[in-house]
Parts: sequence; C-alpha cells; structure tokens
Amino acid sequence: MGAGLSGLAASRELVEQGHNVAIYEASDGPGGRVRTDVVDGHRLDRGFQILLSAYPEAQNLLDYDKLDLKAFDPGALIFMGAGRHRIGDPLRDPFSLLDTLRAPIGTVADKAKILRFRQSVVRKGLHELWLRDEVTAHERLTAAGFSSTMINSFMKPLFAGITLDPHLQGSSRVLEFVFRMLAKGDAVVPALGMGEIATQLADGLPNDTIHLNSPVANVEPNQLVLESGESVVADAVLVATDMAAAADLTSVTDRGWRGVTSVWLKTEVAPIADPVLVLNGEATGPINSLAVMSNVSPHYAPNGAATVVVSAPEIRPDLVEDMMAKLKQWFGPVTASWEIIRVDEIERSQPRHPIGHQRVGVQQIDGVWVCGDHLQDASINGALGAGRAAAAAIGNS
Ligand SMILES: Cc1cc2nc3c(=O)[nH]c(=O)nc-3n(C[C@H](O)[C@H](O)[C@H](O)COP(=O)(O)OP(=O)(O)OC[C@H]3O[C@@H](n4cnc5c(N)ncnc54)[C@H](O)[C@@H]3O)c2cc1C
Repeated sequence: MGAGLSGLAASRELVEQGHNVAIYEASDGPGGRVRTDVVDGHRLDRGFQILLSAYPEAQNLLDYDKLDLKAFDPGALIFMGAGRHRIGDPLRDPFSLLDTLRAPIGTVADKAKILRFRQSVVRKGLHELWLRDEVTAHERLTAAGFSSTMINSFMKPLFAGITLDPHLQGSSRVLEFVFRMLAKGDAVVPALGMGEIATQLADGLPNDTIHLNSPVANVEPNQLVLESGESVVADAVLVATDMAAAADLTSVTDRGWRGVTSVWLKTEVAPIADPVLVLNGEATGPINSLAVMSNVSPHYAPNGAATVVVSAPEIRPDLVEDMMAKLKQWFGPVTASWEIIRVDEIERSQPRHPIGHQRVGVQQIDGVWVCGDHLQDASINGALGAGRAAAAAIGNS
C-alpha cells in the first residue's frame, strides 16, 4: 500500500521477480510527495524539489534518458545585500574557480577547504560514509575549519534547500551524503517536472496494479482492510506510506518532520537568465532559495512567461508577505506584476534525521513489511532504496 516512490520501486522489483502486486493508494494519483500539476500552462511540483543525478538508487531504477533530465548549473548564485556572487563548482567546472575565489563568501582558505571536504566525502565508498562518526552537520562543518561566513552564507542555505534543515542540526552523515551526491553528479529535474519520476515508475507496472482513492485502515501480515470496509488477502503486506501514516498503522515511531513553504510565481520576464540555484546568503530569511524553473526546463512555463519558485524551510502566517517584500528588495518594483500561482505549505515534507537515527535496510513489524524514506534517509534515494530492499526481502521470504 502507498504509491509514493518507495511503494512504486518495491512494486517494480516484485513484478520483475514474477509476483502479482496490487497497490492501494489513498490519494488520487501516484507519486506521493513527488507530483507535478499543470496550472495555466505552468508546471508546479508539489514543493520545490530536485533529483541529484548521482543518487545510486535512482541510477539503478530510472531511465534518465526518457526522463529527459535538465540540469541546474553547478554551484549557486548567492544574493547578499545588493551583491550577487557566483559560487562555482571548481571540481567539475574549473572555469568557475576565478569567480569563486573573488566572491566574498568566506575566505580563500574556506574555498580550499571546500575542495578538501569534497575529497573526503568522495574518496571512499558510500557504505563507509553512512558508518562515519556522527555529530551535527554544523559541528562537522565547524570541525572542517569553515568560517562562520562560509557556513551561514553558503552551506546553510544550500543544505536547507535540499534537506530542509536550516540550522544544520541533523546528522553530519546526511550532509556528507548530499555533498557527495553534489560532487558526483548534477542537480536535475525531468523536463516535464518531478512528477515524471513517479509516472515512469508507475508506467512500468502492469495495468490495474494501482488502486487510487483507496485508503487503507488496517493491516495484518496477510490481509489489509480498506477504509471502505473491503478486505484484501495477500501473501505479504507492505506498508509503503509516509512515516506518520506508518506510525498509525504499525508500531513505527514518528520522529517528527521538517516542513517547507514554496511559492510558485508567474512572471513575464525571467528575473535571472541562467538555470542556477539562487541562495539567500544573508542568513536572515525569509527566502532560502529561488529558482527560475523555466530556465532549467522551458516546459515549466507557457510561451511568453517564466515560472519562478521561492522556498523557505518554515511555515508561518506572514511568510508569503515577507517573501514578496524580499523579492521586491532583490528585483525592484517589477515584482508588483508577478502573480502568485500557488503556495505549497507542506508540514510533512521530510522525516527528521537526527543523530542516532539508524538507517534500516529492511523492516518487518509483527509480520507486516515496511518501507519508505523514513527508514533510510529523507530523500528520493532513501525512498527508492527502502522500496527495493523491502521487495528483495519479501522475494526471499
Ligand atoms: C517539498 C519537498 C521537498 C523535497 N525535496 C527533496 C529534494 O530536493 N531531494 C530529494 O531527494 N528529496 C526531497 N524530498 C523528499 C522526497 O520527496 C521523499 O523522501 C520521497 O518522495 C518519499 O517517498 P515515499 O514513497 O517514502 O513516501 P511518500 O511520497 O509520502 O508516499 C507515501 C504514499 O502513501 C500514501 N498513503 C498514506 N497513507 C495511506 C493509507 N492509509 N492508505 C493508502 N495509502 C496511503 C500517500 O498518499 C503517498 O502516496 C522533498 C519532499 C518534499 C515534500
């Protein structure tokens, strides 16, 4: 049950093993937290998110060519007061090194430390990385010798944008994992939106596998009961819901969530020209990141318009107003003509990954199998990996 990426990945694997699979999904479409809607010709993902092309589980399972992946430029554009500074990715784009050295984000020593830090996270295998000594992400960066300017103006908004952890209080292993993924690949989106990831997985399943609008009320090792009262008997039951729903149905612990607000805007002219992630280097909010999605893939906007998304890892009543005021500071009076298409306030965006959270390969609770990003790491990679692992275990049981 659950047609998010984890449930879809598990089902693909089980079908390949020759099993008959039925997915009961509470909502009206597959994808869970990764869906895309088209509104007035603009493609809006449900909250700004990106795929890191180096995710090993995504490389295994997805057909990247068919997804027609479009990449952000490496590095970021940092807005600080009236200044805009391009931080490149010197390992993958040596031409950016000059701008990076000139940018007033941290010291020259900081920039050398980035190279050293990156080397430390790519040198050994991924398995080793998840077993490293664990401190908070902030402590890890401080121990690596980065200045507070470097941490506040670059590291915090970059990782808050991906892990929704604005104070870097989660596990250092997540930080190192993300850094490794950024070093080894690109930040990308499918040309037609993030939802295409789910669509591709769902399309690979036999027709009629997914039963939409079918919330499950109760699970047992060989049976589930839908809210409609219908019961379904099966050789195995896999709970592939988000952590909160899994905690309602089984004895999984809900260890809390990170939330995010993403505001989708339509503009006549793109406020920046490049497919680059803009980060707020001022460490004061209210915006954490901005992206002109139609610069990354033109399919995100209809002709003659641009689609912009601004995000912050918080949800509060005045946030959108504050964000619009910040945009006016950055881009001037033209922002008065920008139209809000949709505001996504997603409280349950990513399960928290505190120090001490042990990633689990496979989980079976009282005879019921469980998968989902909450078992591994709160990412597309974690969701796909947990699904694949659960399917392998069910196949072997
Ligand atoms: C705004 C946002 C930004 C993110 N940014 C990134 C990013 O940049 N990079 C990245 O890698 N990851 C990111 N993530 C995380 C990533 O999207 C998730 O880790 C992943 O999609 C989780 O997949 P899942 O299958 O484990 O869970 P879900 O996607 O939550 O799927 C669970 C499914 O179970 C269904 N369900 C729940 N209860 C029931 C029930 N009782 N009966 C039947 N069905 C039920 C739900 O409807 C849902 O379809 C982001 C997430 C959000 C929301």
